[in-house]
Amino acid sequence: MYLANKLSEQPIALDDFQEQDTDAAPRDPIADLFDPRLFRNNADRISERLEKYLGDASLRGLALTDPALLLQSAKALTKPGADTPEAHQNKLAEIIDLYIETGIQVYSRGYMGRQFSGAFPLAGIVDLVSSIVNQPASFYEAAQLPNVAERIMAEELNRFIGYVPERFTMVTTSGGSLANLTALLAARNDRLPRSWSEGLDVAAGTARPAIAVSADVHYSVTRAAGIIGIGEQQIVRLPINRQGQIEVAEVRAALDDAERRGLKVFCLVASSGTTSVGAFDAIDPLADIAAERDIWLHVDGAHGASLLLCDARRHRLRGIERADSLTWDAHKLLFVPAACTLLFYKNRAKAHGAFRQDASYVFEKRADIYAEFDGAEKNIECTKRPMIMTLWVMWALYGRSPFADKIDYLCRLTAQAHDILTDEPEFEPLHAPESNILCFRHQPAGLRLAELGDFQIEIRNWIRAGGRFFISKVDIDGVAALRVVFMNHEIKPEHVRLLLREIRRVGREILDQRPGASHEIGQRV
Ligand SMILES: *Cc1c(COP(=O)(O)O)cnc(C)c1O
Repeated sequence: MYLANKLSEQPIALDDFQEQDTDAAPRDPIADLFDPRLFRNNADRISERLEKYLGDASLRGLALTDPALLLQSAKALTKPGADTPEAHQNKLAEIIDLYIETGIQVYSRGYMGRQFSGAFPLAGIVDLVSSIVNQPASFYEAAQLPNVAERIMAEELNRFIGYVPERFTMVTTSGGSLANLTALLAARNDRLPRSWSEGLDVAAGTARPAIAVSADVHYSVTRAAGIIGIGEQQIVRLPINRQGQIEVAEVRAALDDAERRGLKVFCLVASSGTTSVGAFDAIDPLADIAAERDIWLHVDGAHGASLLLCDARRHRLRGIERADSLTWDAHKLLFVPAACTLLFYKNRAKAHGAFRQDASYVFEKRADIYAEFDGAEKNIECTKRPMIMTLWVMWALYGRSPFADKIDYLCRLTAQAHDILTDEPEFEPLHAPESNILCFRHQPAGLRLAELGDFQIEIRNWIRAGGRFFISKVDIDGVAALRVVFMNHEIKPEHVRLLLREIRRVGREILDQRPGASHEIGQRV
């Protein structure tokens, strides 16, 4: 309709209202900063720099700079310099270089440390457009195409979730942590309906409201619990098995026990891909239990929901269409710039149940055709980036394949890494990988059992200091382990072998440097 109106209207000649720009008039310094030619010029230079950055095939980890030194460099750059275009350009180049070189190297083959990923470069360009046009995405009137694109991507991705098309909804949030918080709030307001108006104490009555989570749940979930008024002691931690999944056979007993302690569990959180080992909880049987007891089932798929796009891996989320809500980070395994998270609800009405507020300056009392597309009423954020645009443009141009193929490769690589580790003496993989995360320990001869955890941490630190690889660490059964997360499709099995060789070398050095180092042969752990 807007387009039709636009075509039928007589164009207004803006020039009639504007003073003529005369070359003789002195330039306004603020206007200079908005000069489109300056924009183009800077963008060209920075694109050139980024082209080199993206093409850098060197094996590099994280060049961790002493913060005091970096602060010093940044302070020097903050000092006012000459006020000329050349001086500004030089300083800008220095700042961009410093930005690029310090910090995590997500496009490097040595980067195996975290869940952040190198973004599809085109998605970065779309993000640049978003930054320039700066449309806040919570309201249709302000960000029309992003709101329509949200609707489209919700429908596209729901083909892989399987919610009833007429009933489900999706809202974007700045990160999985915020999505988990929003979902928990929706769950609380649905199962304890008076909590929004009268407070949690009144709404809960005599029972104390509680949530049940995996013993290995992401910290954002327990943090969200605290924010919505669920204390530490009202969190029921469900035991996990060797693979890091919730031990389904023990859930009913744990819930019964919680009830005996006066807790009323209103929400059960399953993880589709735990952060530490990438384990997928069995959704189907957990959905059975949630249904029996009228508990809201939230699935934290921040890391692993993207596996839904892979035909051969979707089974890890079997039963996902039964979850009341699902957190899905696109800035992890969909490779778009952070933050871009999608929060799905099985039942549209419940999404609006998270918040019940009047705000006459933004919310319409009577929904019109525009307000129906607004996300703000189901969203903690007011101003929000039009984050869906990166994902939608990639999807519109290339469809599912680049996402599915990349995820598939990364998961296959992780399985190969597991096999390599299994064959390698003195390395122990700690689980069969279910996605692209793998945890293991190095246990050379001569290492004492009591040192096992500290030794892994030392290895991680030495590897990081070496500057060629970046890996992380995580505690498993209370003992530190090494952790790799493969997010870069340029990493090949040979890079994994190089990493293991480096770990072995570093491990030997650490043992040799010990005071009175004696290789106690035979004292293998
Ligand atoms: C990464 C992660 C989160 C947090 O998401 P952010 O987007 O970093 O806020 C939550 N849950 C799981 C399982 C994660 O892996």
